[in-house]
Amino acid sequence: MKKRMVLASLLGASLFLNGCVGADDATSDNKVEDTGKEDTKNEEEDATTSATYREYTDISELEDQYDVIIVGSGGAGLSAAIEAKDAGANPVIFEMMPVAGGNTKKSSAGMNASETKFQEAAGVEDSNEAFFEETMIGGKETNDEELLSYMIDNSADAINWLDSIGITLDNLTTTGGMSVERTHRPSDGSAVGEYLVNGLLDNAYERDISLFVNSEVQTILEEDGKVTGVEVLVNQTEERTIKSDAVIVATGGFGANSEMVVENDPALEGFVTTNHEGSTGTGIEMISSLGGDVVDMDDIQIHPTVEQSSGYLITEAVRGEGAILVSNEGTRFTNEMNTRDVVSADIIALPEKKAYLIFDDGVKERVKAINKYESEGFVVSGDSIEELANEMSLPAEALNETIETWNKSVSEGSDSAFGRDTAMDEDLSNGSYHAVEVAPGVHHTMGGVHINTFTEVIKTDGNKVEGLYAAGEMTGGIHGSNRIGGNAVADIIIFGRQAGKQAANYLQN
Ligand SMILES: Cc1cc2nc3c(=O)[nH]c(=O)nc-3n(C[C@H](O)[C@H](O)[C@H](O)COP(=O)(O)OP(=O)(O)OC[C@H]3O[C@@H](n4cnc5c(N)ncnc54)[C@H](O)[C@@H]3O)c2cc1C
Repeated sequence: MKKRMVLASLLGASLFLNGCVGADDATSDNKVEDTGKEDTKNEEEDATTSATYREYTDISELEDQYDVIIVGSGGAGLSAAIEAKDAGANPVIFEMMPVAGGNTKKSSAGMNASETKFQEAAGVEDSNEAFFEETMIGGKETNDEELLSYMIDNSADAINWLDSIGITLDNLTTTGGMSVERTHRPSDGSAVGEYLVNGLLDNAYERDISLFVNSEVQTILEEDGKVTGVEVLVNQTEERTIKSDAVIVATGGFGANSEMVVENDPALEGFVTTNHEGSTGTGIEMISSLGGDVVDMDDIQIHPTVEQSSGYLITEAVRGEGAILVSNEGTRFTNEMNTRDVVSADIIALPEKKAYLIFDDGVKERVKAINKYESEGFVVSGDSIEELANEMSLPAEALNETIETWNKSVSEGSDSAFGRDTAMDEDLSNGSYHAVEVAPGVHHTMGGVHINTFTEVIKTDGNKVEGLYAAGEMTGGIHGSNRIGGNAVADIIIFGRQAGKQAANYLQN
């Protein structure tokens, strides 16, 4: 299986070369060995798939016109491209960063979906209604209900679609605010992002879809209420006008644009971010300048468990697989499985405004991403609770008592202290103990461009720009004022697919 993954990547790259770039034309500028800090694979995987070596389309191949222009190569853009191509259109993808994948590549816990074949196989009873209700509660009942219904009703189909194109998310876990295991991740429990992006890229390559990196779209062109193309800065130097009757904007959120974050929520001044550098909100700005409506821009999510020196997100799956949070006192202070806003607020309310995730070898075994955190130097370990407490300068007696009490709660299935009722399948009594120091960081921008369920952009005057579609984190409303972990990957795949299909359909009519 490991070998097959390497072959899949290399086959994808070579097909891509054959189909899109004359092999002689490939320049070193366009070869990127993708081994950056964003990699969330575990060490075992690194040995096999670190050939995340990608050949992007050479700029000499750029044409003056395409059927569909897709801006951004994250999960939304790649899904849109694959669906547009499968519907008979000729799409192109422009990506402003030197590598594809955006924040999607960093996503870790998984993708939420209900009533799936993998849940059924695992004996998990779930319903679209429960998924809807819990997401609404998490979003403080402010979610766009039509968008949310569309996402949930299409979530099982999206899991099947991914599976059918070689991206199998059959290992289940839970995130905060969800009552059952509906977060789907790769079979070995590793982070979802790298696996997902590699799989989508392989599919794009197999379909000969051109993907130009280092190519920032700067303007969307419109005439008489219809999209006519884009202006793009290719190779970060040359301005080109590319024509198209359909443009899909999938540029992600604005979590890495601290100015835009603080403008929309001044309380977030000075917060670190978990986002990749390209999350700058360019798509929202371009669409706003065409009269596009924006919603919920001040709903910016902070994630409770972020390593502060690096902005590295410590995945919710760590708590989902049994970890607890303790303060400097060595005691619990919250229901760790509450929604992100509540857990973040509880950490900020501590005098030291930081906390420690505590887990054992069992959690470490179940969450492969922890190997990566360890190799980055974020994890402190001890053979016993006392040893860990000493390493962390936490009171050993208190920590011991906290873990003993927690293990008793797990065996009784009841947490009388904080009312946690999920992620209690396993206690913390296996092997050595580990801790990661965490505090909240800017993580997700729930607000963005106003779309309908066809991914058409709605203008402030209620009209649409014909041929203009948007999908993914740059759109607003679906998550309400607080996104549930695992729902963004569902959002980008489901609405990315929809945008690709709708754009192709628009061209045929
Ligand atoms: C560390 C981390 C972990 C996460 N874990 C999860 C998880 O487990 N489950 C979950 O549901 N969600 C998770 N999320 C959230 C989720 O990953 C994102 O919301 C989602 O991936 C966004 O996808 P997207 O396709 O909309 O945007 P992105 O994946 O960010 O892609 C947008 C792309 O557009 C490019 N771009 C921007 N502007 C331009 C321009 N003008 N021209 C050309 N290209 C441009 C960007 O460089 C980027 O590559 C996580 C987020 C982070 C940061």
